[in-house]
Amino acid sequence: MTAAAQFAECQPVAPEILAKIKSVLGEGSYSEDSLRVEAKLTEWRGKWKGHTPLLVLPKTTEELSKVVKICYEHGVAITPQGGNTGLVGGQIPFGEILVSLERMRTIRDVAPTDDTMVLEAGITLLEAQTIAEKAGRHFPLSLAAEGTATIGGVISTNAGGTAVLRYGVTRDLVSGLEVVLPNGDIFHGLKRLRKDNTGYDLKQMFIGAEGTLGIITAASLKLFPVMNSRSVAIVGFETSQKAIDLLARAKQETGGQVEAFELMGRYGLSLVLKNIPDTREPLEGEYPWYALIEVASGDPDGAETSMERLLGAAFEEELIFDAAIAQNETQAAAFWRLREEHSAAEKVEGAAWKHDISVPLSRMAEYMEEGAKAIEAFLPGARLVAFGHVGDGNVHFNVIVPEGMDTKAFNDLRDEGSKVVHDLVHQYEGSISAEHGLGRMKTQEALLYKDPTAVAAMRAVRLALDPKRIMNPHVLF
Ligand code: FAD
Repeated sequence: MTAAAQFAECQPVAPEILAKIKSVLGEGSYSEDSLRVEAKLTEWRGKWKGHTPLLVLPKTTEELSKVVKICYEHGVAITPQGGNTGLVGGQIPFGEILVSLERMRTIRDVAPTDDTMVLEAGITLLEAQTIAEKAGRHFPLSLAAEGTATIGGVISTNAGGTAVLRYGVTRDLVSGLEVVLPNGDIFHGLKRLRKDNTGYDLKQMFIGAEGTLGIITAASLKLFPVMNSRSVAIVGFETSQKAIDLLARAKQETGGQVEAFELMGRYGLSLVLKNIPDTREPLEGEYPWYALIEVASGDPDGAETSMERLLGAAFEEELIFDAAIAQNETQAAAFWRLREEHSAAEKVEGAAWKHDISVPLSRMAEYMEEGAKAIEAFLPGARLVAFGHVGDGNVHFNVIVPEGMDTKAFNDLRDEGSKVVHDLVHQYEGSISAEHGLGRMKTQEALLYKDPTAVAAMRAVRLALDPKRIMNPHVLF
């Protein structure tokens, strides 16, 4: 990825057009307060720091529609933003009008009988979970940034998170959308139906579109029964293949009760134990690989019974040699911390090339072995940390600077080193972005691997909806 493409700029906007936009906005619907604007221009890790001629804060879909119509008429580019937690830079404007959905926070409807809730785009994921809980239902999407990430953002990035194994990715949790299209028209697609075979399922286009096909203003989301028991365990393995074998058994034998199956290599775990306070070895022995497993059931004792049965049989067959089942919520949280603190623990060790990859589960163990060899051959001493949602065929395959190596020299090798990882992913029929999208960061690189026919079809859809290419013009193809 060239630096220029990641920071591509838009044309300046004429003052009279800015004045026209402001004239259709109500009180509080735009801001020129430098502190408020600045906070939205920097990506949370400081990788992208952008600029905007105007921060628009619409309160209603109709108000936003008026702004977008003016932008479309004059060919002015727009970047939509939710919680600004995205990891590939798509939410940061470089000259685009910045539309933040933070004031669109109305709960439009909660309908337990339909198992749906209709929420506006600026509501956070954590708030959405609480709204569902209050209605006696469960909204299963969960990820570490949920206190800040918004409904509009998680839909636009088709986020995954920790419960994909059971409930699917965000795409599987959306039954309808309301979207302001690039020409300002409003797509009224807030259906609550499970079944609707009346032509193209248009909402799917906007899910995972990273703000390139329109601005999501509200969504109808699917609700699920609340689980009455949960059981969390950590298991040690001699090989990553054995962890994947246990996963296959767990899915089959629990009848689909597995909610999470997270893999951790010993090196990553050792960094957590070294760099994060109040963490402890989860098992007596040390193993090359660990899995954190969470099982949930509607039956009040169901999860524990399933977990004990599963691990008991795996011990007997010598698939596993050591495991610990959390005895209470505090211990379960401590196990989850070992997984969730991997990124923070890694950061203490210095620069890293991060990869968010997926390959078919049946080839994952082989991929990781080959990948480790390829990285060692490319940069001897590089430290590999592999961890993540292996239940979904997705791992973070991160490479940390070798001890004693100059950071700049390491960073200069980033593109070449990542190509080693991603070429192998391609060879294994995988994806170079399993969860985080392409944004500004990975689009050029994705062109090396994506089927040219698929890229051409995406460009055709985009051109049809946004012939002036005003929506997030430097994001995606
Ligand atoms: P933003 O960051 O504001 O925007 C993200 C993209 O969506 C941008 O391209 C933006 O233009 C577009 N967008 C935002 N709102 C709208 C809208 N209303 N309409 C149209 N386009 C819009 N992701 C996972 O999949 N799984 C994980 O486990 C996971 N864990 C994470 C953990 C941490 C600590 C962090 C910081 C991030 C993690 N992510 C994860 C990344 C995740 O994709 C984002 O956190 C989230 O989905 C983005 O939501 P947001 O509201 O912050 O969107």
